[in-house]
Amino acid sequence: MKCPICNSDKTSNFLSIDNLPLILFPVKGEMRDNILNKTIDSYFCDECTHIFKKPLDENESDIIYKKYYSFYPFDNLESMNASYRKPFADLFSRVLTRVKDKKFKTLLEVGCSSGKQLETYNGYNLECFGIDPSPLNEMNNNFISGKYEEYKFKNKFDIIVSRFNLEHINNINYFLQKIYSDLSVDGLVFIQVPNIKTYIENLIPLFLSHEHIHYFNPYSLFLAVNNNQFEIIDAEYDDKQSIILGLKKKLSNIYDWEKINISKTDQSFYRNYLIKRNKLKNDIIEKIDLEAQTCFYGAGMTLGWLLYDLDLKSKIYNFRLIDDNSILRGRFFPGTNNEINNFNSLKKDIKLNVILTLNPFYHKDVIKKLKDISEDINILVINKNGLKKI
Ligand SMILES: [Zn+2]
Repeated sequence: MKCPICNSDKTSNFLSIDNLPLILFPVKGEMRDNILNKTIDSYFCDECTHIFKKPLDENESDIIYKKYYSFYPFDNLESMNASYRKPFADLFSRVLTRVKDKKFKTLLEVGCSSGKQLETYNGYNLECFGIDPSPLNEMNNNFISGKYEEYKFKNKFDIIVSRFNLEHINNINYFLQKIYSDLSVDGLVFIQVPNIKTYIENLIPLFLSHEHIHYFNPYSLFLAVNNNQFEIIDAEYDDKQSIILGLKKKLSNIYDWEKINISKTDQSFYRNYLIKRNKLKNDIIEKIDLEAQTCFYGAGMTLGWLLYDLDLKSKIYNFRLIDDNSILRGRFFPGTNNEINNFNSLKKDIKLNVILTLNPFYHKDVIKKLKDISEDINILVINKNGLKKI
């Protein structure tokens, strides 16, 4: 298996999960048994440390994007979430302030979803265009419903944006070359993708999903843009959940930008993650009492990991799922029979075994809430240090 970023043959297996549903967000009850499962295999490049999987075939891609995505429970996509939106808007503003004498007229957002995220560019006096394959797309003259790779534009754009999109793309080089040719000579490109290095650092046990082909770290993203004749002029990536790059064409001499090169992290960093993740897996299997009623708090990816990779959905007889997001109430993880409930559904004064599977940022508050309702409580938390008893 060749690395899609640096073309090296020195790749090896990374993580594999059997029977992972094609989507991992909670769905309505009538859908829960209709979501297909498939093994997911991922690979690691020893040379550039990129993690990747094989592209989806057309059938899988249709099922995920045309069918399952219409069950997506949240109002907004991840790009609208404040922790992703704000750093992007800040970097965008920083770069545009530096080129304010230059007359930029048009912006294209690739993968603009409903077009709502184009509001980010209000106030810049740009005519904004969007292209997205999803049927959610609002149809007007500036929105094109279609695949960017297949669409021929008549005009060049001054700014092209791709947010949380590149990780879904099969052929990265083709995609970046098309952006290069659709961009005006002195144009700018802004890219945002999830930062896998942060996931690895925080021992997030599940970040693979069928629709994500690429798991960029800052270095592999740098390499991808560098190989396609772009130069980084601004970047946000250290300890951040996402990587954000501002780019220009290498040949363009728009202003005097300081060139930014991102260095490689040693491959042992990624290998150690696999070791720690394995230990976490063994600790959980050892410490969970399969007979006791267990309550999982937080219906996100960590819970998905326990249900599917550790197969707790068929090993534990009796469990409850709690999440504070009211949108998820009454929904089910694909292939499970346990409805997601809110915190108030937990009864006072009963013996509780709780495993915190939500973002560690909220652990402190949730632990306090739980201790207020029951004295007789066992709490296990999953965080970057592994499995810990409170
Ligand atoms: Zn590589």
